[in-house]
Amino acid sequence: VSRSSHLEIVALGGLGEFGMNLMLYRHGDDCIVVDAGIMFPRQEHLGVEVIVPEMSFLESCGTLHGVILTHGHEDHIGAVPYLLARHDVPVFSTEYTRELVRARLSQHDGVRDPRLKLLPPDGQTRTFGPFAVETLPAAHSIPRAKMLALHTPAGVVVHTADFKLDPVPAAGAGTDLGRLAQLGRDGVLALMSDSTNADRPGFTGSEASVRPGIEELVAACPNRVVVTTFASNVQRLQTLARIAAGQRRKIAFVGSSIEFHAEVAQRLGLLELPRGLRVSVERAMQLPRREVLLAVTGSQGEPLSALARISVGKHGEVELDPGDLVIHSARVIPGNENSIGRMIDHLLRRGAEVVTSSPRRRVHVSGHPSQDELRLLLQLVRPRHLVPIHGDYRQLHAHARLGVDAGLDRSNVLLAESGDLIRIHDGGIQITERVHVGQVFIDATLDQVDLDVLRDRRRIAGDGIVVPVVAVDREKGVVNGYPEIVTRGFVPDRDDDGDGVMREAGRVVVAAVAAASPEERADEAVLKARIQTELRRFLRRRTQRQPLIIPVIVEL
Ligand SMILES: [Zn+2]
Ligand SMILES: [Zn+2]
Repeated sequence: VSRSSHLEIVALGGLGEFGMNLMLYRHGDDCIVVDAGIMFPRQEHLGVEVIVPEMSFLESCGTLHGVILTHGHEDHIGAVPYLLARHDVPVFSTEYTRELVRARLSQHDGVRDPRLKLLPPDGQTRTFGPFAVETLPAAHSIPRAKMLALHTPAGVVVHTADFKLDPVPAAGAGTDLGRLAQLGRDGVLALMSDSTNADRPGFTGSEASVRPGIEELVAACPNRVVVTTFASNVQRLQTLARIAAGQRRKIAFVGSSIEFHAEVAQRLGLLELPRGLRVSVERAMQLPRREVLLAVTGSQGEPLSALARISVGKHGEVELDPGDLVIHSARVIPGNENSIGRMIDHLLRRGAEVVTSSPRRRVHVSGHPSQDELRLLLQLVRPRHLVPIHGDYRQLHAHARLGVDAGLDRSNVLLAESGDLIRIHDGGIQITERVHVGQVFIDATLDQVDLDVLRDRRRIAGDGIVVPVVAVDREKGVVNGYPEIVTRGFVPDRDDDGDGVMREAGRVVVAAVAAASPEERADEAVLKARIQTELRRFLRRRTQRQPLIIPVIVEL
């Protein structure tokens, strides 16, 4: 296939799935990658720490000029070490994001001498082959988030990445509406826009809007206040610091990631803490309870996080007393409802008050744009084409509908998913082919986990393990005595105690060995496979269960 000199775009992740954002822009043979993020595992991914996009397409995509990172959230930078392990390309970001990438890379030993470079200042461009990349400031829930205006031979593409239109951000610059409007007047070929909240009506609201809700609670509390939020939400840390200062409380940061982000943000001038406001955790616990505000990691109920340990009285440094107040100032990421719920149960058992965000009392605000903001952006940018990005399919779908409602021609709005190769030219936008995409599972040792391993873990977790121990006499070809079947976590039958089923299972094993030819019996692997197949078939039919079956052969 000869490569066209059209503009082509493909997401290796993040379109029709939450997280794992990685987009490739190609013109002719020249490519740039925007973001390289991970996805967090769900409950069924037993033992999997992170999921990274399958990136084999990058091997043959053409000349890769660089990776551009829009901001430092894990779903945008977490896969950088895996990309750099295979491709020696420069990575461009802001200084803040670069610090976070460095920290990520330091945990991997596969990448030597990464070229971590800085993006140009806002409004200026840097050239990558046929792409001139301009950065624009964006308000988001992490410092120094950027939108990109990609000036390509085919036209200008505005890639919003994650953003919202916060008119009053607590720190840093807000989204640059003026420049967006100017780009719109000059003509924008395509808008690639954040769909995370595309199913939410109204405006998301400013970071400034969470302050009154939290402040009121803090003012009314005669005891310790604990606020949990994402460590990277430096704006929220700034809001908390201002509230603490106004209420004559000291602030302490609890949890290594919150300390890390606070340190980087302070060094880069993104977090202002008046002298004497911040104290150590140890000092905070010595102060009178009404003089303390603790900013704590663990908003998603992660079992090893600071707040999860505090909730069960196992933190070591922080111990809560009845009447202390815990404020959950973060989004509940879908899939984490149970772990957060359990943590709140524990906190309540210890006598703490717990407040979560509600329409009545807002203690958290999202970093992503709601429908009115997306409409406003469409009106400003007036793109010829809209491609919703960053979201599950239903959110992309809602965003596409907004685009049509805002006046875009239906044929100019493209609902694409990861792996769809999109071609844009003056006349239109189409999906021209599918490229290989997928998920790669990584466990705590940072090694890849095979799908087979994951399937086994699921079987064990769901239906347990069955180990038939078979004594075989290779000469005579008979099973010596009766096979012993050891089980763990396997419930054979609801009705009887399972003896009947296991006796029958023993007969199935005997029959499987008896039916094997002398050659099959001589080959342990073949014999095992035979036993496994027969026993699996029997247990599935008899018990509707599929335990992991591990035959053990003892030769006599
Ligand atoms: Zn983000
Ligand atoms: Zn994101």
